[in-house]
Order: sequence, then structure tokens, then C-alpha cells
Amino acid sequence: MVTGRVSAVIGQGRVRGLDAGFVTLWLERTATKIGEHRDYLTQLDAAIGDADHGINMDRGFGVVLAKLGDGASRAPGPILEASGNALILSVGGAAGPLYGSAFRGMGRSLGDRAVFDAEDLLVALRAALAEIQRIGAANEGDKTIVDALVPAIAGFERGLRAGESLPEAARRAREAAEEGMRATVPMHARKGRASYLGPRSVGHQDPGATSTELLFEALEQAADETDGAGGAP
Ligand code: ADP
Ligand code: MG
Repeated sequence: MVTGRVSAVIGQGRVRGLDAGFVTLWLERTATKIGEHRDYLTQLDAAIGDADHGINMDRGFGVVLAKLGDGASRAPGPILEASGNALILSVGGAAGPLYGSAFRGMGRSLGDRAVFDAEDLLVALRAALAEIQRIGAANEGDKTIVDALVPAIAGFERGLRAGESLPEAARRAREAAEEGMRATVPMHARKGRASYLGPRSVGHQDPGATSTELLFEALEQAADETDGAGGAP
């Protein structure tokens, strides 16, 4: 039906293109969320790790923010790659190489194009997951970042396939990440430091799955703000 198709196109068309400004906004909102939850992430890591996840991530995103403000004008892909490098260099522990490689993978996936769309973002998120699994070899159910990231990507894809706008698909991704994060509570950790605890890791929410959920809260926020502003040109 023509009318339905037209309105669907208009519905999807509010965010016209994603650019360096969008990626910068996402990283800035992530840095803020991580800063706000720094102590919480550290408390979660105190229960099943070594009490440094919030400190690690906050330091890393502080360096990412400083990089964003260095005045170099970059395309979205190179911004994400530079952020990944900053995370690898500044975040200690397991999370540094995992998140760092994930951001580098997203950056490489976007290449040097100036503008990308929600489908490109989906491909980039899949590249992030591939990097995390290449380095950490975790699967769903191991009580890691992967347990929030896999459902988030699936939720984002479901939204796009249903013809939803970027903010709507990003909301689905965040909701799915949240569910995945909560589902780590009863899991028995099989990767990373928490796995040393064996069954004593059961009953605690995974810190890395929690920081991943924050990344998707920030993505939703960036998408909402970009949509409200009428999108990139
Ligand atoms: P460390 O454990 O070295 O102190 P962090 O505390 O910064 O590093 O990060 C811990 C988080 O890293 C865990 O909560 C988990 O989600 C994630 N993690 C650990 N190992 C892996 C892995 N192999 N794959 C994916 N995520 C992992
Ligand atoms: Mg730790």
C-alpha cells in the first residue's frame, strides 16, 4: 500500500545520516555514564574480581574524551579507531584490550566514509563483537561483556528489520542489553578473573556486561539527541 510505504520512509528518515558528530556524541555520553557509574562498576568488580573495573573504564574514557578534544578533524571510523587505541593504552586489565579492540573493529568496519547509516552501525557492532570474541573467546552464558552485547545487537537488528527509526532501534538494543546484563546474575563465570571464583561467582552481576549496557544507554541517548536535532546533513 503506497501510503503505508511513504509513511514508513518518513518514519525512518528523520535521522538522515550519522557522522563524526554522532560518534563523538556517543563517546561523550558513554564517558559521562561511565563516570556516573564508576563506583558502582567498581563495587560489582569487588564482588567477583579485583575492584578496578569502574576505575579502569573511567580512566580510559577520560583519555578518549581528551583525544576527542585534540582538535584533529577525523571521519567517524578513524575517531572510533583512535578511541580504541586510547582504551588499549589506558585501561588496565581485561577490559582494555577487549573494549579497545572492539572500538578499533568498529572503526575499521566504517572505514573512511564521512557519513554512515543504521545498517552500517549494525555491521560495525557485529565487528566489535567479533573482535571481543577473537580476543577473549567468550560465548553467551560465560558471564562477560558478550552476554550484554549479543542480545543488544540482536535487538538493534530486530528494530531495523521492523522498519524502526534509529532511536527506536537503539532503545530496543538498550533494553536487550539490560536484560542480558541482569541475566548474568545467576551465571557461573567461565572467563576472566571471576572464573577463578567458580560457583562463588553465582549471584553477582557481571561488571563488564554492566559497562556494555551503559554503552547502549549512551547510544540511545545520542540517537535521541541526533533525532531531535533533525539528524546530520
Ligand atoms: P580485570 O578482570 O582484568 O580486572 P576489568 O575488571 O576491567 O578487568 O574487567 C572485568 C570484565 O571483563 C568482566 O566483568 C567481564 O565482563 C570482562 N571479561 C573478562 N574476560 C573476558 C573475556 N574473555 N571475554 C569477554 N569479556 C571478558
Ligand atoms: Mg577487575
